[in-house]
Amino acid sequence: MRARTHTALAVLGAASLLFPLAAARAAEMLFDGASWWSHVKVLAADNMQGRDTGSEGLKRAQAYVVKEFEKAGLKPAGIKGYYQPVKLVVRDIVEKESSLALVGKDGAVEPLVLGDDAYFSTRVHLAPSVEAPLVFAGYGLQVPEMNYDDLAGLDLKGKVAVLLSGSPADVPSALASHYQSAGVRWAAFRRAGAVGIISIPNPNSMDIPWSRMSLNRTHPSMDLVEAEFQDAGGEQLAATFNPAQAEKLFAGSGHTFAELAELGKDRKAVPRFPLTVSIKARAKTVEKPIESANLVGVLPGTDAKLRDEYVVLSAHLDHVGIGAPINGDSIYNGAMDNGSGSALLMDIAASFKSHPEKLRRSLIFLSVTAEEKGLLGSRYFAAHPSAGAGAIIADVNVDMFLPIVPLKVLKVLGLADSDMGDRARQVCESFGVRAIPDPEPLRNSFIRSDQYSFIRHGIPSLKMDVGFELGTPEQKIFKDWLTNRYHAPSDDLNQPVDLQAAALYEAIVRQLLVNTANADARPEWKADSFFRRFVTEQSASLPPGYGGSRTGKAPFSASR
Ligand SMILES: [Zn+2]
Repeated sequence: MRARTHTALAVLGAASLLFPLAAARAAEMLFDGASWWSHVKVLAADNMQGRDTGSEGLKRAQAYVVKEFEKAGLKPAGIKGYYQPVKLVVRDIVEKESSLALVGKDGAVEPLVLGDDAYFSTRVHLAPSVEAPLVFAGYGLQVPEMNYDDLAGLDLKGKVAVLLSGSPADVPSALASHYQSAGVRWAAFRRAGAVGIISIPNPNSMDIPWSRMSLNRTHPSMDLVEAEFQDAGGEQLAATFNPAQAEKLFAGSGHTFAELAELGKDRKAVPRFPLTVSIKARAKTVEKPIESANLVGVLPGTDAKLRDEYVVLSAHLDHVGIGAPINGDSIYNGAMDNGSGSALLMDIAASFKSHPEKLRRSLIFLSVTAEEKGLLGSRYFAAHPSAGAGAIIADVNVDMFLPIVPLKVLKVLGLADSDMGDRARQVCESFGVRAIPDPEPLRNSFIRSDQYSFIRHGIPSLKMDVGFELGTPEQKIFKDWLTNRYHAPSDDLNQPVDLQAAALYEAIVRQLLVNTANADARPEWKADSFFRRFVTEQSASLPPGYGGSRTGKAPFSASR
């Protein structure tokens, strides 16, 4: 389908019939969706080549963002002008020199087909060869708060754990998300003596089909080079197994994968037991260093006391680049992921120039790199901020906000976790939009984008997306979008978008930034929020204005 291209007038005219309040407020903000779309068109054009981290395409996109930051009058706040260099190492698997096989009790070797049966994850330093017994560890979760332990009673020493993605129904979603993040999960298995993890996606809750997951394995993985960010130490093997082929793992174990998947579907307790087969892995990887960068621009606040505190608006500019062709197209343009959020960053910066606003605190416009590689750019910035060090008080992250239906409902990740959530709700109401919590908390979205890098430093954060309610026709539109376009070449300029939804979303984000920058008090986590744990006691006791950025946490990485 062709993308809709309304004129500003048509957008507002139509909007005023449907959402009078919203339209009036959007008009007041002078967002019409048109300039937003013009930025998306630049960032998602084929010559940007999918903006892979480290690529010429991403550099071109960054040059464009820098020009727009300049035009908007943002103060350069990186290390070299707007640029904050980020050093990375790229890891690629050489599949033709790598192999996976199952070894039966009798020594019979059953080779696996890479891509069809399973594939390696290069998120870890894969050992050149591993041969180890397999143990099925259920959901592979250790949740001390719930006295829940899938590892208890299992002998994992020298073994590779096989697990089913997901979590049992009685573990709250925030806890489940946190303990499923790759680094935290690995820490538990490492303590138990395991040498690797094979994950089987839960066939009932896969975002994208196996065929596409498998194609995506050809994108190399990356890591920050600094030792402080390494959290997969000791993990010799990491692989993902096709659920449609997973019965092979359970042969002779007394259980079938079908039975386990059925339990997982309803988030019921699953048994844990040793498997009769072992895994034999040979992995050839190549590594090379590269450099990328975050872009940092500051709009200084005016209050003599509060201007040294910072509210971050973040969006990742990178996408996954060029990959395996789908329907003859190999450019993964990333129009919505996250051309959409990057365009918003530039649009909102420009709006403060065309319609200046009195801001007590300062705003940081942060365009990060390497989100798709595991939140690496934001992780680096949150640990080593080139602006706002020690005084970042909030992050509003925009990533793939999906204006593909009219904006009536806004999904706010973190809605109940901090008073940023309350503030977001108020702003939404003032625009005639209803704020709702994540209707699909099991997708772990709150830890899957750059806000999590700030959360892990104790900073109250939000991510907001155009939403839907379960059971409505919109739910299917979003589900279809994920199935067909998410991380696929068809997330390009040739898809339907709703420009009024984008405009209204921008107006809401802008107002939230203004209200946060101008509030008397800094945002605080709610006492019962799970994510409050990352506020260190030391920083919590600092006077207001000095406790925003907290460092020195045990490092771990979010799942992707
Ligand atoms: Zn993405």
